[in-house]
Amino acid sequence: MTVGETLVFVAFGSNEGDREQHLRTALQRLGATPGIVVVRTSQLRESTLQGHGPAQGAFLNGVVQLRTTLSALALLGVCKALEGMAGRRLPAPRNHPRPLDLDLIFYGQERIDTRELVVPHPRWHEREFVCEPLRELGVDLDASPRHVAPRVYEPPIEFAAQCSEWLAGGCVVGLVPTMGALHAGHRSLMAIARRECDRVAATIFVNPLQFGPNEDFAAYPRDLTGDLAICAEAGVDAVFAPTVAQMYDPEFCSHVAVGAAAQGMEGALRKDHFGGVATVVARLFAIARPHRAYFGEKDAQQLAVIRRMTRDLGFPIRIVGCPIVREADGLARSSRNVYLGAADRAASTILHRALRSAQGAFVRGERDRDALLARVRAVLATEPRAEVDYVELRSEGALAELPPGPVDGGRLLVAAKFRDGARPVRLLDNLSLREGADLA
Ligand code: AMP
Repeated sequence: MTVGETLVFVAFGSNEGDREQHLRTALQRLGATPGIVVVRTSQLRESTLQGHGPAQGAFLNGVVQLRTTLSALALLGVCKALEGMAGRRLPAPRNHPRPLDLDLIFYGQERIDTRELVVPHPRWHEREFVCEPLRELGVDLDASPRHVAPRVYEPPIEFAAQCSEWLAGGCVVGLVPTMGALHAGHRSLMAIARRECDRVAATIFVNPLQFGPNEDFAAYPRDLTGDLAICAEAGVDAVFAPTVAQMYDPEFCSHVAVGAAAQGMEGALRKDHFGGVATVVARLFAIARPHRAYFGEKDAQQLAVIRRMTRDLGFPIRIVGCPIVREADGLARSSRNVYLGAADRAASTILHRALRSAQGAFVRGERDRDALLARVRAVLATEPRAEVDYVELRSEGALAELPPGPVDGGRLLVAAKFRDGARPVRLLDNLSLREGADLA
């Protein structure tokens, strides 16, 4: 190695056309590029496609070790150019057959995390068609750098620094705020964020400001280990899990006051709840400065409050509402469902059934607001275990009150208590009158 050179490993593969010819040509062209010296090349091996994709032939794979004076980004540019010269269509559809694929695995000991390039390659250690050639080239895999996803941040300043780095690298950043005890509902938010963003951060913070004095802050379910496993599986890049003292220092005294959006329904029953939600979300937005933030329609009023707050305070953040994820029997997934006793669990499906019943009436032509509400209440009344807090029909989105008389859509919202489990549980549910209904 001479001064200014970096030792680099590039994985190569081909499963379209004359595979061996594509690879030999690419290696020759790499070696002929100024600033690149080919040190050693592994043998070629066959492998089949890992992951989902259309039916296709086997790959021929290997790894080449290089010395280079090029920067990682310049080397990436060379690799992309060679892929193009081999006839690969760019941007290439994921997991489709390709004449040439060049992946930068290691660039010295450097860690790079930008939109264009992540080094070390995030999944190199999961791929036998990369590991085996690396071993053949004498690389100690256990000592090699790998990405451990997700990274967990506690101090806000460290999480903020990570997000700033992503933003500076040109990444679209998505934020998924949660209180942990993660389930399929949260996972769906992460999956949507993963599809739409270059980097996804989840936050896990049971926020004391949104719990009333007689509510279940202390008893709220917590399981950081399980949550991190779910985040890893969902492909989350970073988890922000601060302590209460880290989020709110002892002198903390600035709160977001929320107006009309927080009136009625949950706002009427849980004094200061939405003020606490808006305060923590504003704080998370200020720390992470994401492009997009993901919230569930399951908490429809919360979503409306956050949309309003984001607009009112001028955060340049797209709020993405995500559909409710339900159990097979219709119960909306919730972290608090674990506290339902068996009988209450069986009874809990009444919420969804009541909403569906009114939706069915709407589809069949019922348009009167009060008749639709009466339909929900009548079904709920058949289940004595459900202590109903409210049943409402509000406008879509902003959840504004609708006057009596005919409606041409809207969202039904319900909340009820169930008391027979380890502790009383309040369940929320809602349904758009037009959701999933073929009204043509
Ligand atoms: P929580 O941890 O309960 O504060 O929820 C975090 C986020 O996940 C909120 O935006 C919720 O609306 C969303 N969420 C919770 N349960 C569900 C569900 N069953 N389906 C979709 N989103 C959900």
